[in-house]
Amino acid sequence: ENIMNYEEIKKYDKEYNLHSWTAQKDFSPMVVTKADGIYFWDDKGKKYYDMSSQLVNLNIGYGNKKVIEAIKNQAEKLSYISPAYAIDVRSEIAKKVLEIAPENMGKVFFTLGGADANENAIKMARLYTGRTKVFSRYRSYHGSTFGAANLTGEPRRYTCEPGIPGFIKFFQPYLYQDKIKFESERAAAEYYVQRLREQIIYENPETVAAIVMETVTGSNGVIIPPDGYLEGVRKVCDEFGIMMICDEVMAGWGRTGEWFACDNWNVKPDIISFAKGITCGYVPLGGVLVSKEIAKFFDDNVLMCGLTYSAHPVSCAAGCATIDVYKEQKLIQNSKNMGIVLGKELEKLKEKHASVGDVRYIGLFSAVELVKNKETREPLVPFGKDPEKIMSKIIGMLKDKGFSTYSHENSIIVAPPLIIKENEIKEAMNIFDEVLT
Ligand code: PLP
Repeated sequence: ENIMNYEEIKKYDKEYNLHSWTAQKDFSPMVVTKADGIYFWDDKGKKYYDMSSQLVNLNIGYGNKKVIEAIKNQAEKLSYISPAYAIDVRSEIAKKVLEIAPENMGKVFFTLGGADANENAIKMARLYTGRTKVFSRYRSYHGSTFGAANLTGEPRRYTCEPGIPGFIKFFQPYLYQDKIKFESERAAAEYYVQRLREQIIYENPETVAAIVMETVTGSNGVIIPPDGYLEGVRKVCDEFGIMMICDEVMAGWGRTGEWFACDNWNVKPDIISFAKGITCGYVPLGGVLVSKEIAKFFDDNVLMCGLTYSAHPVSCAAGCATIDVYKEQKLIQNSKNMGIVLGKELEKLKEKHASVGDVRYIGLFSAVELVKNKETREPLVPFGKDPEKIMSKIIGMLKDKGFSTYSHENSIIVAPPLIIKENEIKEAMNIFDEVLT
């Protein structure tokens, strides 16, 4: 039984809660009353397709009994013990994560989420290399804590400026809106890798600890690296002894049809940060995977990293159960298979609608980019500005028809739970089609 009725829930939320990324006065949160599978319901009993898996983290969907049981059991057995102790679920999850990670990975350090995974990833790269500078890209999001926000290459960084000295930004290929036209993906990749290499030379490579990148750029519009790009960055890192850090917080855990997004290309990062899909939001967990070489370095050098809730027992138990769910329900394969179905639906939208400039997809990770003019590719709203709130109106229209997701700049994210079925994709994408019409 609810302690408060729906009016009270709304009233006290308005009165006492601060909500992220918004001015509070006009913000009116939906009251959610239940959720199951790929759906959730509001206080009027209306049902929504969760077409963004909340914040692209709810990969196994709502209400998974196995994960819930694991959480309950662990809470009863041992709900907390400091990270210094060894316990069954702590050992088991590390082993499980290393089994599915790229083969060059050696050990894992657990955090609570994505931002602190990135904070610790850059600390480890700095400790290992003895260098201080960190490169990251424009059009990226790495979290909102001070260090992670300084890695972030878009307006969510601005409140943390002036930034941390030695945090340097570079551009990634964004072929759809690039003003330079390349004859092939490989040519574009070559160009961007060479520009990066030059920039590193001018920054003094011996001072550069790491290059941080989302393997597939997520909230900034599902920007997929062109052929040869990640391999090229890997080569530059090898040439100068720089750590390649792939942020797989959003793209990891089956989202792209592979356990880790870097598995789609022939690239092995030195460090991988992850979060979201490891527990799918049931409880918080993130982590940093490091290569065998880096792991060995910390045999004799102190790992100057620590969190009260590192490898929290309840999170570890949930993570173990979640990994089992991915395997038992073959969700990585389903992401790949359903990704093909979703891709076809997205291509239909692009063909049919004058407002759809580009659709990008890999596995069940996709975005629809809206334009004012398909020929000139003029964006629907200019960068960083949407005074008429056009994008939020479109998101509102989708929601009114039961399609829940969010947007960033001109891109609308479509990233449903990996348990979604073919008919559900088609039903939901029909809603998208109606709204665009
Ligand atoms: N990195 C990426 C690529 C993300 O998408 C996010 C969150 O959306 C983060 C890091 C930050 O993760 P968290 O919100 O768990 O701190």
